[in-house]
Amino acid sequence: MKVKIDYDLCMGDENCHKVCPEVFDFDQDKLQSSVRVDTVPPQLEDKVRQAARECAPGAIVIVE
Ligand code: SF4
Repeated sequence: MKVKIDYDLCMGDENCHKVCPEVFDFDQDKLQSSVRVDTVPPQLEDKVRQAARECAPGAIVIVE
């Protein structure tokens, strides 16, 4: 699984970082999340799916 953030939609609320900090970093100065990993480790895939479900603007794009 790969994951990326659509910055045209992201509103910088930090939720993905709170749900899965292992995959989503958050820059407190830029108020922007970023993806830390190239490929999501299998044991974190469920947390990434949860983060995507909880991302209100639908900015988290999962590629299986
Ligand atoms: S949860 Fe969605 S809107 Fe919030 S910071 Fe992460 S990608 Fe952006």
